[in-house]
Amino acid sequence: MMRFTRHIRIQLLPGVNRLRRLQPAAREPCSLLIGQTPPEMTKSKTNALCYMCDQAATTGEHVPPRSFFPKSKRVNLWKVPSCEDHNNDNKMDVEYVRGVIATQLGTNATAQRVLEVSMRSWDYRPALFKRTFHDLEPVLINGKESGAFSFDLPRVKSVMSAVARALAYRDFGRQFMGKWRVLCATLGSRKPTPGWDKVRDLLTQASYDPIPTPVPDVFEYGIHRTKPVGFIYRLVFYGGFVVFAWPVLAKRESGGV
Ligand SMILES: [Zn+2]
Repeated sequence: MMRFTRHIRIQLLPGVNRLRRLQPAAREPCSLLIGQTPPEMTKSKTNALCYMCDQAATTGEHVPPRSFFPKSKRVNLWKVPSCEDHNNDNKMDVEYVRGVIATQLGTNATAQRVLEVSMRSWDYRPALFKRTFHDLEPVLINGKESGAFSFDLPRVKSVMSAVARALAYRDFGRQFMGKWRVLCATLGSRKPTPGWDKVRDLLTQASYDPIPTPVPDVFEYGIHRTKPVGFIYRLVFYGGFVVFAWPVLAKRESGGV
């Protein structure tokens, strides 16, 4: 089966010097709720707010999305409190993102299984396949034939922001509804943006405390604490697709982390 490779369109994050915060710094002991059930999850549902908005939670949203997991691995998955809207509003984006991540070289055998699901879906909907890989072109990677295509980066970032918000809700027991920065480290660019490699290197070289996840071959992640407050997540999908995400904390928010 054809596997595609590193694609291609990236955006440099605004405010590169913001990343100076990532320089190795004294590590603070982690006094948070990392890996534990946040208080909201133990209260009655009527007390919990949605992880994405101020509506009452009436359901639970999987994090990462349930469709990222092969059917045989959908056991003990994590959920966060969610309103109906935010449990359903990004299904097409999630399907898109799952499919394009699973095509990436460097991802594992579980990605291959998930890709087969996407391939079936593309078989039924050739127009969707065409749209997804509209500019696919052959490339050689280490002498082997592969392909490259452009990601719909806003969609990827939208899904990854939601995943990161849900993780933060779970880890810290409160909402992070402000803006998040998302950087897809696995992606390449047809037109490299000055500074991109440096940003990626800074993020990659930081150390991340690993947090155990239910199905690590689908999703694992770690956290890097930054000073004076704040944190960065390193998310890894299918053992090889790496995303960094961090909240841009408003002043009023910064005291609580
Ligand atoms: Zn909501």
